[in-house]
Amino acid sequence: MTVDLARVAEDKGIRYFLISFVDLFGVLRSKLVPARAIAEMQADGAGFAGFAAWLDMTPADPDMFAIPDPDSLIQLPWNREVGWLASDLWMNGAPVEASPRIVLKRQIERAEAAGYRMKTGVECEYFLLAPDEVAVSDSRDIQEKPCYDQAALMRRFDVIGEICDAMIELGWNPYQNDHEDANGQFEMNWEYDDCLITADRHAFFKFMVKTVAERHGYRATFMPKPFPNLTGNGCHTHVSLWDGGGTNLFHDGNGELGLSALAYRFLGGIVHSADAMCALFNPTVNSYKRIDATVTLSGATWSPNAISYSGNNRTHMIRIPDAGRFELRLMDGAANPYLAQAGVLAAGLDGIENERDPGKRLDINMYTEGDRLRRIRRLPLNLLDALRLFDRNKVARAAFGDEFVDSYVKLKLDEWRSYATTLSQWEFDHTLDA
Ligand SMILES: [Mg+2]
Repeated sequence: MTVDLARVAEDKGIRYFLISFVDLFGVLRSKLVPARAIAEMQADGAGFAGFAAWLDMTPADPDMFAIPDPDSLIQLPWNREVGWLASDLWMNGAPVEASPRIVLKRQIERAEAAGYRMKTGVECEYFLLAPDEVAVSDSRDIQEKPCYDQAALMRRFDVIGEICDAMIELGWNPYQNDHEDANGQFEMNWEYDDCLITADRHAFFKFMVKTVAERHGYRATFMPKPFPNLTGNGCHTHVSLWDGGGTNLFHDGNGELGLSALAYRFLGGIVHSADAMCALFNPTVNSYKRIDATVTLSGATWSPNAISYSGNNRTHMIRIPDAGRFELRLMDGAANPYLAQAGVLAAGLDGIENERDPGKRLDINMYTEGDRLRRIRRLPLNLLDALRLFDRNKVARAAFGDEFVDSYVKLKLDEWRSYATTLSQWEFDHTLDA
């Protein structure tokens, strides 16, 4: 039985709905719809001009419709008159295949056909900045090793507490909050769930953090590397695969580090496609200043510099912290909530289908000993290299289809060109006297 949003509005006192979608560049876009019109919108969708968002469309294209998913409804904890809804994009009576939530749903369908459900948890790091400049908001937050600093954490209790209370109210089961490894950086953890739920929550979390921060006079940023000398914003993702009956198929008490053979094949798929999937996991010019970065003030970047996996060792791209799951540490704060999940699932399913062998686990400190490894595969060092790998990647094209890959690469290459044709101060400093 489909949820009747008009009735929900009456029951919960919701006066307006934000019918929302995330475009290919991860921008959250919405229409604010009064409750009186929600019944119609629930059936037919809210109309948008697709070209006005980051989607591969033209001004001549017909209206695109965002059809809300009633299961995704979130009543804003800071304004209960408003209900937020994730939605799927449709055009000409068909889903828009080159749109992030549809891309993820296609991979979920593919997994379900094979009897799998992917569950994930994301660790979205962010900085609290001063409202009008790129500077940490807390001038006393200057420790060289600021991770878990109680004083700095509690100086921002008003923001952290409000966001955590909101997650409790929403039933996300948050369980810890901390000051992270960079000055001004925080992380809040809530329970893992089905990957579509996690993706919707990830999109909402970014909106919520930015909004609550703004209400307290700060600016929150998930930018991958806003400060060259400080640890960047990661979005580490914990992954497991389950069957329909609630059994974790990654768990095997007798398997190496508690992972099953299936888990290692899935992991092998991630290892196989990681360099190409960087186009989704690390989707901005700035992303590549986080991975393979130089040592930060705190002594570590906490981001991977090559394609490797390990046990409970945070210097590798994949960490196996515990039985029954692994952590992919590649994604950053700019990763599109839906495309990041879709990339993991597509690469992992390919690993299962083609029995990809992840190779040997490495137990070394990659930050100090990684350079000695001659044959290890490296991550792309800029967005252009990642896009070129993604463009010709067979796994991506087979999973996502040409329509999505072509659209994504086209728009992102335009973005790369805009960056690459901008003259920087560095060029003048190094070339003016050439
Ligand atoms: Mg962290």
